[in-house]
This record gives sequence, C-alpha cells and structure tokens, in this order.
Amino acid sequence: MDFELNKLVRPNIRALEPYSCARDEFKGMEAHVFLDANENPYNNPVNRYPDPLQEKLKGRLAPLKQVRPSQIFLGNGSDEAIDLVYRIFCTPGRDNVVAIAPTYGMYKVCADINDVEYRAVPLSPDWQLDAQALLRVADAQTKVIWICSPNNPTGNEFPREVIHEVLTCFGGIVVIDEAYSDFSSQVPFRTMLDRYPNLIVLNTFSKAWASAAIRLGMAFASEDIIALFNKVKYPYNVNLLTQEKACALIDDLATVDSWLAQIRRERDHVLPALSELPIVREVFPSDANFVLVRVTDANRIYRYLVEKGIVVRNRHRVQLCNDCLRITIGTRQENNELLGALRFYK
Ligand code: PMP
Repeated sequence: MDFELNKLVRPNIRALEPYSCARDEFKGMEAHVFLDANENPYNNPVNRYPDPLQEKLKGRLAPLKQVRPSQIFLGNGSDEAIDLVYRIFCTPGRDNVVAIAPTYGMYKVCADINDVEYRAVPLSPDWQLDAQALLRVADAQTKVIWICSPNNPTGNEFPREVIHEVLTCFGGIVVIDEAYSDFSSQVPFRTMLDRYPNLIVLNTFSKAWASAAIRLGMAFASEDIIALFNKVKYPYNVNLLTQEKACALIDDLATVDSWLAQIRRERDHVLPALSELPIVREVFPSDANFVLVRVTDANRIYRYLVEKGIVVRNRHRVQLCNDCLRITIGTRQENNELLGALRFYK
C-alpha cells in the first residue's frame, strides 16, 4: 500500500507556521544572561522555561527504546499524543477513524472532542481481532486505525501477524498503543518504525515505570511524523520536574525491572486463584498488569468490594463486557486482601 504522509495531514496543519519560543530561537550553552523569555530572574529553582523538545531525556530514552531521539515525541501522558493524532490528521466533520471495541476510552472521547467520526469494530467473544473486518469499514476518509495491544480492558495482546496485516494493507496511520507491552513477552512494535512509515507506537511512564503522577507519555514514529507532533504541541508541554524525574528513573532501571518481575509473578498468582472462585465465570488471559474477569453479578460484587474498601473497575456497561470487572494486579498483600474478600462474598 502506498503511503503519502503529506496527503494525510490536515491542510491547515500542513500550512501551519508553528509558534517559535525563546528556547527554540536560542539554543547555545555559552550565554549566561537570559533576558529573552520574560522569566523571573530569581532562581527558586524552577524560574526558567524547560527544554521544549526534552533533548536530554530523549537522548537517555533512545537506546533504551531502541529508536533514534528524532523518532520520539514526549507529551503530558499518552493522552496528549492521542489528541494530537486527531489534531494533525483528522479534519473535523469530514474524516473518520476506525478502532476496535472494547478498547481504551480516550480514542473515542478525543474523536468526539475533535468532531471526528469513530467507527468501532467489535472483537470476537474471545477478544480476537479480524484485520480484514477493520479494513472493510475503512474508506477514503479514514485517516487512522487505533489498535491497543495488550488491549485495555480485555488484557490480551493480538497476534503479531494480524497487526502486520493492518500495517501493510492500510494506507493511513496505524496507532499501536503499547501502554502495557512491558508486561508481555513479545517484541514491541516500536522496533519496526523503519519498516512501516505509517506506524505510531504509544508508550507511557504511567504503568511499568510506576509514574502515573508525573504525566509522561511517549510516541514513537518516523522523523516526519514526529516533526508534525512537534509543530502542533504546546511549546513547553513537558515540565522540568517531569523531565528530571524521568531521567532519575532511567538511572535506576534495576528498580523498574524488579517491579515488573514482581507484577508478573503476582499475575501468575492472582489469575488461577480467581478462576477457583465460585462467583467467577471466566478469567480472560492477560498480557498486562490487570485482568478482566466475568463474574455472576458485576454490579453487586463491585459494591460489595467498595464496602470493604477495595476498588476495582466495573466494566459491566462497556460493549461486550457485561458482568465484567477489570482488576489491576497490586502488591501481594493487596491481591490477597481482594481474594480473601471475594472468597467471603455471598
Ligand atoms: N493507553 C492505554 C491503553 C491506557 O490504558 C491508558 C491509561 N489507562 C493510557 C493510554 C493513558 O496513559 P497516560 O497516563 O500516559 O495518559
């Protein structure tokens, strides 16, 4: 399938003259008097605007993620990258996107905010993805296909061949949200950027990195796509404290790895224990740090757990997820508290 990035970009974005901030115009390290950005000179110590392109952090992330720094966009959570995909590629009231159902809710919310039609293709009852079904609902106005793998809320990841089929056969942008890929054992798609010019991969510091509060999301794509993200984003979209905290986390990868190993071990403990409970009808396989469980009465069990001070996510009202609860894997103590409470449920 031929891919022409320029044809996919909204005409107003193609023509956009981006804002040029003080820190874009002067980049040298030699200066010592900064009277260019109307900052307060008193160092408290966050008086200066942060690096708008987060170059130090991207330099640290690139080898870790096996991409070039120029293939990285950093944003205020991956939710910022999701919104930017619409603002760059989808003309409101005219273009559409295709996604699976059920999946992460922000793809649809951002479509609605941007007045872009959202076409949802249901997964099979065992949560499998049919590439041809996605491609069939796409038309000339389809700019983006969203695939979340491992998928939220179902927890499974899709076979690589199916995703390759979508990437090969679709002439628009394919976003693969790999927010949970650190919990799976498959090769992540961000290593395939040079093979697929239409690929955008999303990652986040909110899950494996245990840093949801710093709001740091990543998008990996070709240099040309990243240049578009940089053109449209707010000038200083990632604050200094977040950039510094992320660098400190990268200095201590051993801790991140130990969290991941522990969460995987806990997942192996929680899933079989849940299957043994009489109130559990089905535990769906998980490649993520959560598990989707079909129970006898999701609303009632949800309320029972809340009374015990335990909050899970009730997905009963989500398409195809009737009577399903989504349960995050916690610490051994938290998981045992949950399992104990469920054993006593009557
Ligand atoms: N993608 C998926 C699939 C998610 O489940 C979530 C958060 N629940 C996000 C993205 C959002 O991540 P962030 O915190 O980086 O905005």
